[in-house]
Amino acid sequence: MHTFISKLYELTTSKIHFRFCLLLLACVSPVSAMFLQDQAYVMASVTTAVAGYAVMVIFFHGDYLERQCSLLENEVIKDPLTGAFNRRYLMDKLNDCLSVAKRTQDTASLVAIDIDFFKRVNDQHGLDVGDTVLKQVVRTVQARIRHSDRLCRIGGEEFILVLPSTDVIQAKVLADALRLQVSEAVFTHREEVTVSLGVSQLAKADSIDQWMKRSDQALYQAKAQGRNRVAVV
Ligand code: GH3
Ligand code: MG
Ligand code: MG
Repeated sequence: MHTFISKLYELTTSKIHFRFCLLLLACVSPVSAMFLQDQAYVMASVTTAVAGYAVMVIFFHGDYLERQCSLLENEVIKDPLTGAFNRRYLMDKLNDCLSVAKRTQDTASLVAIDIDFFKRVNDQHGLDVGDTVLKQVVRTVQARIRHSDRLCRIGGEEFILVLPSTDVIQAKVLADALRLQVSEAVFTHREEVTVSLGVSQLAKADSIDQWMKRSDQALYQAKAQGRNRVAVV
């Protein structure tokens, strides 16, 4: 039954069926009008029903294409494991922030986030647990940030959080809250997980590279100061 339904769905949404319905609509509509003119009401009803079916399929196909496009768009901009945005999306977002900052007085901040001693989680509990911890960290961060903020995974256990319209003071407050939230979260392997965070605000003459480099330096400081902390550059 399930395969029958999926086959039917495949057929209904296929390109050939869509084209057939376009053709059907083009041919049947004038015929239906002709029957109506000749007062052949039964034939007129049948052909109108066929035309109605064709219209329905054409509309349905539009919805289907829209859904496929948004799925594809998600695949292009998101990391499949965690659902965070990927590096490609990050670059677009940083470009946006830079151009907004150039046109207006607006600013933005970055928070580089790296899970502490993550290799140990993999070594002691296996890659699957490591993957689950990654997803849990992402969920914890996403639950706390604004709708306009963007969490991007740029490497194994490394992330960049983009905070539009946020200065360094606000970004530091958020970074402190995220640090605390992750350290207090209960993880699948029942052990504490911590993150180190590096904050940098976009400066007037910054390039993307310079801005990112400062958040990386801040992260490096947080690691050097003992991890599970926030540093600002
Ligand atoms: P530090 O506190 O200095 O950041 O130490 P660390 O152990 O977190 O850093 P290190 O760079 O030594 O190790 C990162 C580990 O992340 C190594 C790699 O096996 C693991 N990793 C990278 N990508 C994935 C992934 O997709 N899934 C899992 N489970 N592990 C990953
Ligand atoms: Mg790490
Ligand atoms: Mg790392």
